[in-house]
Amino acid sequence: TRRLFSTVNDASPIPPVYERLYNNYTTVRRVLGSERRLTLTEKILYSHLDDVETNLLTNTNNGRDIRGKANLQLNPDRVNMQDASAQMALLQFMACNLPQTAIPASIHCDHLIVGEKGADIDLEAGIGTNGEVFAFLESAARKFGIDFWPPGAGIIHQTVLENYAIPGLMMLGTDSHTPNAGGLCTIAIGVGGADAVEALVGAPWELKAPKVLGVRLTGQLSGWVSPKDVILHLAGLLTVRGGTGFVIEYSGPGVQTLSCTGMATMTNMGAEVGATTSIFPYTAASARYLESTRRSKQAQDAANFQQFRGIDASPTDKDAVFQFAADEGAEYDQVIEINLSELEPHINGPFTPDLSIPLSQFRETVVQEQWPQKLSAGLIGSCTNSSYEDMTRVESLLKAAADAGLQPVSDFYVTPGSESIRATLERDGTLETIDNAGGVLLSNACGPCIGQWKRRDGVEKGTSNAIFTSYNRNFRGRNDGNLDTMNFLASPEIVTALAFAGSTTFNPLTDSIPTPDGGEFRFPAPHGLEGPPTPFDEGRAAFAALTQAPDAKIDIAIAPTSERLAILHPFEPFPDVDLEGLRVLVKVSGKCTTDTISAAGPWLKYKGHLPNISANTLNTAVNAATGEVNVAYDLDGSKSTIPELALKWRERNQPWLVIAEHNYGEGSAREHAALQPRYLGARIVVVKSFARIHETNLKKQGVVPLTFANEADYDRIDAGDIVATVGLRDMLHAGGQGDVQLKVTKAATGEEFTIPVKHAVSKDQAGFILAGSALNMLSKR
Ligand code: SF4
Repeated sequence: TRRLFSTVNDASPIPPVYERLYNNYTTVRRVLGSERRLTLTEKILYSHLDDVETNLLTNTNNGRDIRGKANLQLNPDRVNMQDASAQMALLQFMACNLPQTAIPASIHCDHLIVGEKGADIDLEAGIGTNGEVFAFLESAARKFGIDFWPPGAGIIHQTVLENYAIPGLMMLGTDSHTPNAGGLCTIAIGVGGADAVEALVGAPWELKAPKVLGVRLTGQLSGWVSPKDVILHLAGLLTVRGGTGFVIEYSGPGVQTLSCTGMATMTNMGAEVGATTSIFPYTAASARYLESTRRSKQAQDAANFQQFRGIDASPTDKDAVFQFAADEGAEYDQVIEINLSELEPHINGPFTPDLSIPLSQFRETVVQEQWPQKLSAGLIGSCTNSSYEDMTRVESLLKAAADAGLQPVSDFYVTPGSESIRATLERDGTLETIDNAGGVLLSNACGPCIGQWKRRDGVEKGTSNAIFTSYNRNFRGRNDGNLDTMNFLASPEIVTALAFAGSTTFNPLTDSIPTPDGGEFRFPAPHGLEGPPTPFDEGRAAFAALTQAPDAKIDIAIAPTSERLAILHPFEPFPDVDLEGLRVLVKVSGKCTTDTISAAGPWLKYKGHLPNISANTLNTAVNAATGEVNVAYDLDGSKSTIPELALKWRERNQPWLVIAEHNYGEGSAREHAALQPRYLGARIVVVKSFARIHETNLKKQGVVPLTFANEADYDRIDAGDIVATVGLRDMLHAGGQGDVQLKVTKAATGEEFTIPVKHAVSKDQAGFILAGSALNMLSKR
């Protein structure tokens, strides 16, 4: 075979992943022409296209107009799945009858462990409660050759960053915070299980070519300001919808001043503004992180790769070398500048991650808004903020406070992101400092971040109270299931300082805390280490990944009586006519996130059992007609919960639809938010706008997402109204081409009218919908 590269170091073999990347990259350059300057996003993304030439030239004005227009067919390098979403992904994969996955994959048991008493006790209890699910996941991993990270090994995104992320890779993850790995220069995209299955069976995965939002960083962080504050500030600028359809790509001299884990915190929370993903260039800090996570080989590969040159390329052609950074002069669709030197700490919340308040204005806001001034609990860590740098900066505060004789006043919980980071913090003495401060170390799992938190402070549901977390998301009820718990997001350092004051109005930059000896204590600015002085400890052997070749002899047993797991039955195909006689089940007002459509917390245990988990469908949605939460009215006026009515209508063969407002399905990649309505009989969802992942998930499950062409039409439709589609059948058969309208008959008056609606159905997606679901189509292949 012909060599593709000349290299500076012929002794160093080229990893196949980089050989593929470079091969496609040269085609990208040839097709787009030498004058085209590429963003980093485009370089990596387009170099993962299934058929580069066709993808870049179809419907794109000869390659000049790709972003926001082309539907890209991509070949990701790997798939990562967390335990809650992996169940449904694997049940779908099993329906395809393949002996192994087409690309490498991993399963991470992190979402099902409840945080309550502390790591060891909670982990044992979690394994006891979820044993059946963990056994299912492990047996599937063994059968199909998937890496299996057992409970206690760590949270998916931290584990992926430590083990699988390398620059230039493209990964899918069945979790919305998958972009965490963008901190190490990967394109990492959160998807639903059905998307994951496409990649797992080796079919190309489709994505509307994203626009690229450039965030140019200048200056340098100092004192109390951390990478978390950059993304909290950016979330305030962009709002929860501002990143929709974009990849956020960071650049500028400020990037070189950040740690790799700090960059990961920022890309992690790009999910909060709806971005497809976020990415940083590969920097010296990224290389140091690879080294410290015992991946010197990968650091060397990345360094070598950036010097590879096509064997036929001219020695003066700069584009013949793949740099893990944007081309000079690359064009962004939008640019935001942030001077890191001018930033101050931010606090975001409650109930939405884009309500961003600078620390200096927070006290005044708390008083004005009459938010609780008592801080009930401070929780730090999670996949977002449990890095060595985060924890050593916190440690510096804990030590200073301990020297002054102080302990946290509020409950103080710490969640390490992985066994490796936990063991390293233990080895280096940080855990001892946390323990001495009375901090409760939770297991290396999601715990309170995903509603798996049994509070022990007596705060009852319905009681308004405030907590501060260094997590990434703060929707109502997300942490403890209490809709009245206000969750404010901040850096681990700010959360820690406030836990010592026990007050939401404390400003550690200006305020003091009285000490036991009658003095006043003012926190010094936190300081820490980017990474450990010696490489990360691998942790206890019991938490190492199980990696093995596929074993066809393994049986995946699912008991027919199981309440946790149920074999999936295919949905029926789309009828060969337009839809008629649909009824509006409920008209929802306000925010309707994936948490609203399919709640987490105690419901996580039913993730592998579609009929059982469907009993939570839309159970925190607000009925637009009455303002009631989780209340729906049947046609005879009888009142029930929304999922109860949906089940009744399923049993009555009454197909239905939901009407809702903006950013429907905001939040996570949770495909249950699409599967459950489909199972219960939803055929279309009509809203003012959709969140990207959820809109795709609906199509994959055969539910047609439609948006009002005129938003005011939302006001003309009510629960119980009868809806028929006009043109939907033809549009689907035309591969997503054509207009769709809805014919509405008012239940109350019989009045009829027709409204236009919009859709974003691609050719492939039209195929899924017609087949009944993406799985129906894949299993036929
Ligand atoms: Fe787990 Fe929370 Fe991270 Fe999601 S955001 S992976 S729930 S720690």
